[in-house]
Amino acid sequence: MAAPEPEIPGPLSATLSARAGEVECPAFALRRATRAGADPDDAAPIVLARGEGTRVVDVDGNAYLDLVAGFGSVLLGHGHPALRRALHAQIDTLVQGLGDVYASDVKVALLEQLAALHPSVGAQVLLTQSGADAVGAAQKTATLATGRHGLLAFDGAYHGLAHGPLAACGFKASFREPFAPELSPLVQFCPYPGIRGASLDASLSLVRETLRAGTIGAVLVEPIAGRGGCVVPPAGFLRDLGTLAREAGALLVADEVWTGFGRSGAWLRSVAEGVVPDIVCLGKGLGGGVPISACIASREAMAGWARGEAIHTSTHAGAPLGCSAALAVLEVLRAEDLVPRAHDLGQAAVAAFRERLDHPLVREVRGAGLMLGVELDSARTALRISRELLRRGHLVITGGIDGATLTLTPPLTVTAGELDGFAEALARSLDAA
Ligand code: PMP
Repeated sequence: MAAPEPEIPGPLSATLSARAGEVECPAFALRRATRAGADPDDAAPIVLARGEGTRVVDVDGNAYLDLVAGFGSVLLGHGHPALRRALHAQIDTLVQGLGDVYASDVKVALLEQLAALHPSVGAQVLLTQSGADAVGAAQKTATLATGRHGLLAFDGAYHGLAHGPLAACGFKASFREPFAPELSPLVQFCPYPGIRGASLDASLSLVRETLRAGTIGAVLVEPIAGRGGCVVPPAGFLRDLGTLAREAGALLVADEVWTGFGRSGAWLRSVAEGVVPDIVCLGKGLGGGVPISACIASREAMAGWARGEAIHTSTHAGAPLGCSAALAVLEVLRAEDLVPRAHDLGQAAVAAFRERLDHPLVREVRGAGLMLGVELDSARTALRISRELLRRGHLVITGGIDGATLTLTPPLTVTAGELDGFAEALARSLDAA
C-alpha cells in the first residue's frame, strides 16, 4: 500500500504560523494571502526546525531537499562540521569585539582575505551586516570618491530594502513608492538586458545617454539579476558597462551579494566576465548562514573615506562570529574546490533541466553555477508548482519580476543526483498541474 501523502503544512506548522501571524508585522501575512488568491490555505507556510547538509526538516517532521538554502546564504549546507567547529570555538573565545575601535584578531584575518579577493592591488574593505548594508556602504564610498550623488541602477534590480539601496530597487516600484519622498531622487534606471525583453543594445545605449550628463557617481549592477529571476545578461554586458562607467568618471559597483563567493560558479562573477569593478558587495553566502557582509573597493575608490570625518559602521559590523564564519567558509570553499564544482554542476544542471523540462508550462531554464531559474508560464503556476514540490519533498521559492520563476540556490555541496531528483519531481509536478 502506498504511504499516505504527508500533510503540508502539518498541524504544528499551522499552529506556529498562526501564532506568528498574531505578533509579526502584517506585511508578510498580507503577501501570503495575496499570493494565495482565492485559496489562502494553499499558501499556508511550513515552519522549519532543523537542517543537516542539503536537508531541512519542519516542525512536523517532514523532510525536504533544501534548494533555497537560506536565500542562498547556507553555502556549505546546514551544519557543515568546519563551520560548526569555527563557531563553537569563537563562542568560547570572544563573541563580540569593538568593531572599528578595537578590532578582533579574526576581523583582521578576514579583512586581509577579502581585500585579496578584489582584482586590484591594495584593495580595502568595509565590513557590514547585511546585503543592503554593504550596498549602502558602496553607495557612500562612490559618493565620497567621485563627489557625485547620481546613481545609475537597473530595471529588475534588487539590492536590499534599507533606504539607500531601496532607492535603486528596480525589482518592484511598489517597494519604493510609500517612501518615495525619503529616497534619493538622483537614481536613474536603465533596462537590464533580458528583463522585460530589453536587448543588450537598448540597455547600453540608454546607459550611455544617462552617463552623458556627468552627474552619475556609481553604476550599480548585479552581474546576474538574482531576485529578478536569475537572468544572465549576454556576454560583454558587464565589460561594456565597466568601460562606459570609466569613460564617464563613474565607479562600477558590482553587487555580488547573490552571485559572489562561489554561488555563480566563480569567486566574483564580474571578474570572471572580464571586468575589474571599482567596488564589490558581498553578503549572503559569505557567512555560510551567519549574518555578515562586505564592501570591497580598490584603494582609489576607498580613498574618499580618508578625507573628512564620515564613517560607516555599526555595533555588529565585523563582529567576531561573522568573521570566523566567513573565514571557515573561505577555507572550505578552497579545500573542497567547491567553486569550480559549482560552475560545472550548474552547467550540467542547466543542460539536463532543459532536456527533462521540455514542457508547455516551462518558458525558460537559465542560470550560472548554482543559481538556477526555471521560468514557468505565470506566477500562479509557479506558486502552485512550488507547493506541489513541497509535497514531493523539494523546497524552492518563486522569484522574477512577475513571480513566475522557480529560483534555486542550493548549498554548493548539493549532488548531481539531488539535482536530477529535483528535475524529476518538477517534471511530475508539471504533468500533474
Ligand atoms: N543585493 C542582492 C543582489 C541581493 O540579492 C540581496 C538580497 N536578496 C541584497 C543585495 C540584500 O541583501 P540583504 O537581504 O542581506 O539585505
